[in-house]
Amino acid sequence: MSDNDNRPPIPSGMRRKVLVEAGHRCALPTCRHIDVDVHHIVPYEKCKKHKYENLIALCPNCHRRTHKGEIDIKSLKTYKANLRFTHDKFSQFEVDILFESAKLPPRHAIPFPPFMILLIKRLLESGYVQLNKNPHGSGSSFGMQISPDLLVITPKGSNFVASLGVSEL
Ligand SMILES: [Zn+2]
Repeated sequence: MSDNDNRPPIPSGMRRKVLVEAGHRCALPTCRHIDVDVHHIVPYEKCKKHKYENLIALCPNCHRRTHKGEIDIKSLKTYKANLRFTHDKFSQFEVDILFESAKLPPRHAIPFPPFMILLIKRLLESGYVQLNKNPHGSGSSFGMQISPDLLVITPKGSNFVASLGVSEL
């Protein structure tokens, strides 16, 4: 009996999530073919499990190209990461903030002006980053806080970035 015969099906909820994330179209933004199936980014034979992070919707043609090596794993991970950010409605600014904060050494933070908080609303709500009060006091001018807060990535955010398998987009 081969490995393929032992292979359990992808759970239907997980499969649906991957298809919805891609709008039931091929995940390659320049392809977007409507004939799609869910495929593994790292081949099943290697990972031996179904994980949402490793699944992507591809049309038969793009799927064939991945097997021929014309589209490599790193590229697929980038397409997948883009889809996840689009699905979560993160802005490119939020994506940049997330990757920059993930690159910081421990106990380092990005100074972030309080009046710009709306720009990272979805990122804050996701719990991937948090804002800490500046320990050096909060200066204010005309009743508005002007000293920056300190933006740091949370453990949840670090895990999320690690699960993407890409260092930037
Ligand atoms: Zn395609």
